[in-house]
Amino acid sequence: MPSLTAQQTLPTPAGEPHIHYLDGQLHIEAVPVAALAKSLGTPLYCYSKSALVAAWQAYWQAASGRDILICYGMKANSNLAILQLFAKFGSGFDIVSGGELQRVLAAGGDPRKVVFSGVGKQAWEMSLALKAGVKCFNVESTAELRRLSEVATGLGQQAPVSLRVNPDVDAQTHPYISTGLKENKFGIAIEDALDAYRFAKTLPGLKIVGVDCHIGSQITEVSPYLDALGKLINLIQTLQHDGIALTHLDLGGGLGIRYDDEKPLAPKDLLDAVFAELNKHGLSHLQLVLEPGRSLVGNAGLLLTEVQYLKHTEDKHFAIVDAAMNDLMRPALYQAWHGVLAASPRHDTKPITYDIVGPVCESADWLAKNRSLCIQEGDLLALESAGAYGFVMASHYNARPRPAEVLVDGPTWQVIRERETFEDLIRAERLLDL
Ligand SMILES: *Cc1c(COP(=O)(O)O)cnc(C)c1O
Repeated sequence: MPSLTAQQTLPTPAGEPHIHYLDGQLHIEAVPVAALAKSLGTPLYCYSKSALVAAWQAYWQAASGRDILICYGMKANSNLAILQLFAKFGSGFDIVSGGELQRVLAAGGDPRKVVFSGVGKQAWEMSLALKAGVKCFNVESTAELRRLSEVATGLGQQAPVSLRVNPDVDAQTHPYISTGLKENKFGIAIEDALDAYRFAKTLPGLKIVGVDCHIGSQITEVSPYLDALGKLINLIQTLQHDGIALTHLDLGGGLGIRYDDEKPLAPKDLLDAVFAELNKHGLSHLQLVLEPGRSLVGNAGLLLTEVQYLKHTEDKHFAIVDAAMNDLMRPALYQAWHGVLAASPRHDTKPITYDIVGPVCESADWLAKNRSLCIQEGDLLALESAGAYGFVMASHYNARPRPAEVLVDGPTWQVIRERETFEDLIRAERLLDL
């Protein structure tokens, strides 16, 4: 069979050139996904190293020599090997917990390139971060300013701080992943920011270094960023008049990726627009910090799963697979769409419209709905765009060990997380002395 004909009839994977069909078989880089499943079992998270490199380069090239620090928003995928790779590229990290800081250190990341975000930092986390020497704390309330100053003073240090400002802009994304509106729990309202900075200046344990915002996730337009930037520029200028000089401006993360037919915003389009605004307002001395998560890892990943049963009811056809909401929670949590690809598309059955569901005892346990597929029991499917907010949200619900993770590099691969065993599930539990 000439491979060209086969390729022409196959679906194009969502916007990710490193995931493609070759001779009628789905490949991640040069490895057929069927070989990964055969060797490592399913469900299985696989990532393309080239896709990670390309996503990083898109930011790096867009920076075009400007003073910029990319702090990977690591909650999107915090596997040590992935962190190690980004650390090697020179990336910093945006962390939201003490545990994430420990992951950065374990992966060889540079703590001086770490920014610490999150609304609920505890004293031990502040202390850990101060001892590690992080670049900045993105502080979200005056109560947190007070606590951070106390913790830093106790250590004989001054904590570098930015205030995370809530600019009250609509990121035009899903309500659960929108964070820059007044009604969200995140940040300090822009009207209150000047007072909060003045208050921070009075606290002995703090050193004001920047301003920060993060308006949401899966953003596909420049305009919400520019709305936020405009408000931050006003604030920066007001602060200047007030004698508070900043050294960096952090615009957060949030760039979208392609799940279905979205047109993602290219880092270059964002950065060109941002640098133009900063130049226009005489603020080109400010270092720009970005915290991209999803857009660095999302399209690089697949979740492989095997069809267990086909179940035909009066209303619907179900493909019951061996991955479930505990492995990939986004559909259950956000009604998120993930593309579904057959590893070896067949031409011997008629397409049927299926809901792809898992074995977990919840009606929310679905991975994809209304997908037209030619499949049989035992077939291998790949859920696309599973590199971000995939494995990191996995749980043990229904006593299901979490999947393995593998990084593919050209024709080779390396397991970067072993599949869990039953022993892993019960390791921390203790029976009663009965
Ligand atoms: C989640 C998060 C990010 C990363 O967001 P993406 O949409 O994945 O780019 C960055 N900064 C903060 C503060 C976050 O909470």
